[in-house]
Amino acid sequence: MPTEIPGIHHVTAIGSDPGRNLGFYTETLGLRLVKRSINQDDVSVYHLFYADHEGTPGTSMTFFPYPGARSGRVGTGQVSTTAFTIPIDAVDYWTERLSAEGADVDEPRERFGDTVVPFRDPDGLPLELVATADAPPANQPDGPVPEEHAIRGFFGVTLSLQSAGPTVDLLRTMGYEETAGESEHDRRRFEASSDIGAVVDVLEQPQAPRGQPGTGTVHHVAFRVEDDEQEAWREVFQDQGLRPTEIIDRKWFRSVYVREHGGVLFEFATKSPGYTVDEDVAELGKRLVLPEWLEDRRGEIEAGLPDLS
Ligand code: ZN
Repeated sequence: MPTEIPGIHHVTAIGSDPGRNLGFYTETLGLRLVKRSINQDDVSVYHLFYADHEGTPGTSMTFFPYPGARSGRVGTGQVSTTAFTIPIDAVDYWTERLSAEGADVDEPRERFGDTVVPFRDPDGLPLELVATADAPPANQPDGPVPEEHAIRGFFGVTLSLQSAGPTVDLLRTMGYEETAGESEHDRRRFEASSDIGAVVDVLEQPQAPRGQPGTGTVHHVAFRVEDDEQEAWREVFQDQGLRPTEIIDRKWFRSVYVREHGGVLFEFATKSPGYTVDEDVAELGKRLVLPEWLEDRRGEIEAGLPDLS
């Protein structure tokens, strides 16, 4: 068996207005734009990557913002909520900040002993801040949020499923273990070993409507894999009756995609070479970067992109 999956690599969601998306994730949430690129499958659309200062795997939330696109519906067969970690004493700071910025935020609630702040981004994408005592160190030195309160990367994701069994089996194969003896309502918690993005919560919701892709929904969740183990993971997935893609070069990492039995699109992405392979840390996100196989189309691609201000 390949090495157990340590946690999330990135989460990719669908947005609408790219400038509004940029403003919310950088100015309101205080993440850094670490990569300004294009959807490699549709070069008229941006691919924006928000992360910590260095673009550490496990901290990056990425978006395909399609101006004017139809809104989706969050439901089964999807990542229904994406959660970030904040320090345990930052709850009041964040509830006040999100309210002051006009965000759609709910009252904090308790879950598995942690305080959770649910909110939505401007496209209605469900997000959470989870305050934990063992939050990893801050790495957001130049952001608008004081570093003592800054987001510390992903806490985890929640999967909404009509039937959880086959997905739970896959998570166990990936190395996730169910948190002993804990479940709340229809929520079960699975954890990997990393201190960033280790949690996958599973909600079994047989009566809930099926999710529809569109703005305000997650497109896929990516998990971290060792650089030389993607082929081994592909074989594991094939043995489980799944149909993984070939290994795809995404420039900053290499990816294998597989739609798991519950309908959620999983990606398995390498830690290398990382977001600093084509830009220094100081320069991350400042200019449009393209994979070299698209560089000869740069003029045409730039002219076709919407305004990002
Ligand atoms: Zn991805």
